[in-house]
This record gives sequence, C-alpha cells and structure tokens, in this order.
Amino acid sequence: MSTLIDGKALAAKMRAQMGEEVENLVKETGKRPGLAVILVGADPASQIYVRNKEKACESVGILSTAHRLSAETSEEELLKLIDRLNEDPEIHGILCQLPVPDHICTDNILQRISPQKDVDGFHPINVGNLVLGKECLMPCTPAGVMEMLNAYNIDPEGQHCVIVGRSTLVGKPLIQMMLNKNATVTVTHSRTRDLASICCQGDILVAAVGVPELIGRDHIKQGAVVIDVGINRREDGKLIGDVDGVAAAEVASYYTPVAGGVGPMTITMLLKNTIRAYKNAYGV
Ligand code: NAP
Repeated sequence: MSTLIDGKALAAKMRAQMGEEVENLVKETGKRPGLAVILVGADPASQIYVRNKEKACESVGILSTAHRLSAETSEEELLKLIDRLNEDPEIHGILCQLPVPDHICTDNILQRISPQKDVDGFHPINVGNLVLGKECLMPCTPAGVMEMLNAYNIDPEGQHCVIVGRSTLVGKPLIQMMLNKNATVTVTHSRTRDLASICCQGDILVAAVGVPELIGRDHIKQGAVVIDVGINRREDGKLIGDVDGVAAAEVASYYTPVAGGVGPMTITMLLKNTIRAYKNAYGV
C-alpha cells in the first residue's frame, strides 16, 4: 500500500505557520520581510511563475516587489538594479527569474546578488556553504524535497538515494543535501548506462529530468520512496511527471503526485528562505 506525499497540503500548513511567524516578527522588528523579484522579458511561463511568487508572498505577509523589465534591458542596467536592491534595507530577498535573455550572462547576474539576499540559493558562496555542510540559503526545489521527506518521517540516513538528473538547480544541490543527511548517494544523467538497473537500487529515488514518464515500473525498487520533481506538459495540456505515476503508486512505499507534489513546496521554500534572510538581517 503506497502513501501519497501531499505537497499541496504540506505547503498550505507551512504557509499558515509562516504567516503567523511573520506577524510576530513584524511586531518584534517593526519591519516587514521584503522580496524583490526581477523578470526580464515576457516569457509566458516566467510571467506565471512571477505572479505565483507575488501571490504566495502576499499570503504570508511578505511584501513583494516585481521589477518587470523589457527583453532589451542590458546586462549593465540589470546589474545596476541588483546593486540598488542589494543596498535597499527594505529588501531582504532578491531573485532574478530564469532564464534571462541570451545577451545577459546568467552567472554574472547570480553572482551579483548579495549572498545574504540570495533566496534562490544560487550564489557560489551559498553553493559552497551547502557543500561544506554550513548554514546557508539553499535552492528551493531540492530543499522542498528534503522538507517533504522530513514531514513524512522518512530519514535518508543510511539509505541509498538515487538521483536522476544533475542540474545545478535540482540534482547537484540535492546530492549535497542527501549527503548532509548521511544518505549514500548515486547520481545518474543522460549518459548513464542501464539507468533502470541503477534506479532499482534506490531506497529513495528522485527524478529531476524533464522527460515524461522516463521512470517506469522497471526503475522502481519494491517499497522505495519515489519523488517526482519533473513537470512536463502533454499535448492535451495535462501536466505529467518524470515518473509513471501508476507504477509508483503500485510499487513505492511513498510517492509524490504531479501536480500537488514537489511543485507547491518550491515556492514555499522560497518564502522560507526570504523569512530566513530577513531574520538574519535583524539578528532575530
Ligand atoms: P535540466 O537542467 O534540463 O536537467 C535535466 C537533467 O536530466 C540533466 O542532468 C540531464 O542529463 C538529465 N537527463 C536528461 N535526459 C535523461 C535521460 N534520458 N536519462 C537520464 N537523465 C537524463 O532540468 P531541471 O531544471 O533539473 O528540471 C528537471 C525537471 O524538473 C523538469 O521537468 C522541470 O520542469 C522540473 N522542475 C520542477 C520544479 C518544481 O518546482 N517541481 C522545479 C524545477 C524543475 P545531462 O546532465 O547529461 O544533460
């Protein structure tokens, strides 16, 4: 019998707690947490993500300011805006919605955001601190995966975690987070031979690939915990994951659905990081 890991319900519970925490902190500091979201260009998916982030902030009492810039914005102009936001005491978190247009160097942008305000956890200082196992702002999606495991009392210690995908956004930081929790980690990618035989060894199997239903019954060990990070849109508009959900429900002990699994946790972890950055700023 498989248990569904309900990311939507967990996210709602966490946001309710955050809302209360924010109001208490505002009483203590006299300041409200502030998040600046930068969007360059009019990519439809990015516009939706930014709107969702604004709404999520509002729901927990974080002030969000969206900076919607034209696709022609130069790298220099964008860097100047980031410099201004880095200096702004009302802003505790800054994120630049990716991807940025091709004429802008993503690394230059991510490295310009102050590590203390880097609520996406992409700055090399935060990446380095994660590797060192030190306190830092961590990338939201893999942090959301860890939060879900924790909420369902699934302890990675001593377990074999197989991660499919090695992106900077998800797979790579998750390796560190799992290692920091004493899991034994195997990471696979597009050049991995015989993916199924490796995935089958995973007590915890995380798919962050972007290939619809790549992970089927043959990839899942009986009783494994299966976390599906993938979000893929089928031609009929339906969202599906990187894992065959029917197989996961039959073979896994725990599994995440798409939608309502990892997705809602990602924005929730952004809110958590923003509150963390704000608390760090006031030493509370
Ligand atoms: P990405 O940057 O495109 O990375 C995909 C990874 O999958 C790469 O490491 C790639 O290997 C690997 N891969 C591709 N095809 C493979 C195959 N056939 N077998 C094994 N590995 C394969 O993607 P991402 O940003 O990590 O995102 C992954 C998925 O998660 C996407 O569907 C994305 O939409 C979703 N996502 C969801 C959330 C959320 O909030 N739920 C957040 C972020 C991303 P190489 O390195 O060898 O190319």
